[in-house]
Amino acid sequence: MASKVYFASLRARSRSESRTSKVGRLFTAAGLGDGIRTGDLTAVKIHFGEMGSDAFINPIYVREVVDRIKEAGGKPFITDSNTLYTGSRHNSVDHLETAIAHGFDYSVVRAPLIISDGLRGRNVCWVDINAKHFKKVRIAADIHNADSLIVMTHFKGHETAGFGGAIKNLGMGCGSAYGKMDQHSVRPKVDPVKCTGCGTCMRICPVDAHILEGGKVFIRDEVCIGCGECITVCPQEAIGLNWSSEIPPFLERIAEYAFGATRNKVGRMGFINFVTRVSPDCDCFPWSDNPIVPDVGILASKDPVALDAACYDLVNRQPGFRDSKLKGGWEAGEDKFRGMRPKVDGRIQLRHGEELGLGNLEYELVEI
Ligand code: SF4
Ligand code: SF4
Repeated sequence: MASKVYFASLRARSRSESRTSKVGRLFTAAGLGDGIRTGDLTAVKIHFGEMGSDAFINPIYVREVVDRIKEAGGKPFITDSNTLYTGSRHNSVDHLETAIAHGFDYSVVRAPLIISDGLRGRNVCWVDINAKHFKKVRIAADIHNADSLIVMTHFKGHETAGFGGAIKNLGMGCGSAYGKMDQHSVRPKVDPVKCTGCGTCMRICPVDAHILEGGKVFIRDEVCIGCGECITVCPQEAIGLNWSSEIPPFLERIAEYAFGATRNKVGRMGFINFVTRVSPDCDCFPWSDNPIVPDVGILASKDPVALDAACYDLVNRQPGFRDSKLKGGWEAGEDKFRGMRPKVDGRIQLRHGEELGLGNLEYELVEI
């Protein structure tokens, strides 16, 4: 049976049609409070955005969800896990500073912030999943130990995952730093013919994995953490992967981590995706590029697979923006994510998620 996905457009001609009120109405319509019991410690998983980005979810929408969780009897806290790479969210001190700088302060969101894998990302719980790539996964402990979970996601493109939605927010986002390492085992290579030695990749690499020799760059495999950031910034498109052998298992590993993050919360989760400012890249970059399509709306569901599938389809129904990273697929109905990255089929996340039992690819869209 198809899973229900609730949709709110962004049109507004009255106070009751404001976006904040629509977030609250979506929460209620999709029954996201159904699994929250009185006294629950409810994790609200979001991505605070790397310092310099600005396409992350507006904190005032998070406050609306916090208020609904409190009405349902829960005690919400806002959370994310530390990043694998150095940057503005690599340890809890920097991460909280970044979150507050981006407006995720108690005075705005009305709930405390907790970084779920501890000061240096070592606060981990092992979860048995017995899946294709992993028997056990390492989930950020304070998300695992929460009683219920609401995942709020900015839906956008992603350099190696094709797109980033609820599944990626669960998998990569709820995995501890060690868990992120488990998922990222892609290793990019530089084509020496195309490389001009400009050094752009060296400036973005969070772990200084590149070396310049004889006017060409090389990547030290033993240092690279597989974040994929250098691939997207190279002006010559000289950095690539063995896309056919590395990307499908990478996407399956994300889905398996997502599955692991949900195992002790079946029936006690909800998901909200914001299909707004659909940037080509992840919010982990210290910038946000022009969106690739017009804003679409806000969607909510209890099923993360159905939710991401619906968002993917709605983005592709839009006409693409010319002044964006799109290189093809501009027409309404064409695949925007393959238009940017023809070799990455992000839908593998959806298919493997369904195979695992994380959710359902079939969805029924209900407009509120
Ligand atoms: S960004 Fe590309 S062209 Fe510039 S040094 Fe790196 S690999 Fe070479
Ligand atoms: S993928 Fe590129 S940017 Fe990321 S760690 Fe490896 S070499 Fe550095």
